[in-house]
Amino acid sequence: MTTPTRPTVGFIGLGSMGGGMTRNLQRSGFPLVVNDLRPESAAELVAGGARWAESAAEVAASSDLVITMLPTPRHVSDAVNGPAGILAGIADGGTWVDMSTSVPEVADAVRRANASRGLHVLDAPVSGMSVGAASGSLQIFVGGEAEDVERLRPVFEAMGDPERILHVGGHGAGYAVKLMINQLWFSHLVATAEVLAVGVKAGVDLGVLRDALVASPANSNFVEKDVLSILEHGDYDEGFALALACKDLGLSIDLARSVGVSVELSALVEQVFRRSRAVHGDRAGEMTPFRLYEELTGGPLRLSPAKEASTR
Ligand code: NAD
Repeated sequence: MTTPTRPTVGFIGLGSMGGGMTRNLQRSGFPLVVNDLRPESAAELVAGGARWAESAAEVAASSDLVITMLPTPRHVSDAVNGPAGILAGIADGGTWVDMSTSVPEVADAVRRANASRGLHVLDAPVSGMSVGAASGSLQIFVGGEAEDVERLRPVFEAMGDPERILHVGGHGAGYAVKLMINQLWFSHLVATAEVLAVGVKAGVDLGVLRDALVASPANSNFVEKDVLSILEHGDYDEGFALALACKDLGLSIDLARSVGVSVELSALVEQVFRRSRAVHGDRAGEMTPFRLYEELTGGPLRLSPAKEASTR
């Protein structure tokens, strides 16, 4: 029995997310051609057999499909356009998948300007944090043609949970789903921080308050699970920088504006995140805005150790 040949994957952007995603592609046997503004980010991959390319154009010219995993639409545009960009190297009929959290403008412009070249363009942003990228359990939201999604499924499955690779619609749908997930999750973060701060200042024990919320109709995944990373471990998730969280909130509001929906709550949440970015810095973790409310209570909000532990 012969093993089917794996296509060569070109990958641009080897940061918190791209680093783990490429390691999983390599483990699954996909030959890799990689590029990043920071060559050192490719050292481990190259030691494992990946080929380093000097430019995005060279990545595209040496691979069967190209994936970008870059911070913002501007970075995506930089990697795609210009004499050293993907479009300069990709063959007619080639495939580009943007897995960045972004908006459709760059990909739309590529499709419009290259209509005669038969390029296959997909948006496939992800959820699951850098931990999910490292463990290959990302959720992937794919926008594009159904045949392309099926053809690329083995590539997505090397990086994500096969049950959670979702074809969510046509071009741009993946970007929209991802932005709405982040918008809601960041809104949950701010709402949860507010009610915990007020309840604690009103004299309620933090653990009692959280248990009551979890048992109530106001429960959420954030109150039940995600907030514990702060309340139990003081971990604000530095794997996802606050600067990128602010970028996502800005893009979410841009998207709302472009489709004519007023989003008062989203705008407020964005302002809270921007305040935290100004106070705590670009590189602080995405959950750091919670600290603005902890500071109002006079210190960090932390659950006391479990009863059994404290009575031992
Ligand atoms: P990051 O800043 O850690 O990594 C980005 C990498 O891209 C860096 O290594 C940088 O050097 C490189 N880069 C930038 N411009 C480039 C260019 N023109 N050519 C080549 N390389 C370039 O960012 P990240 O956390 O890995 O996030 C990547 C994307 O994934 C973002 O859109 C982010 O919103 C999204 N995302 C991140 C997380 C997370 O938890 N970190 C989760 C889901 C989605």
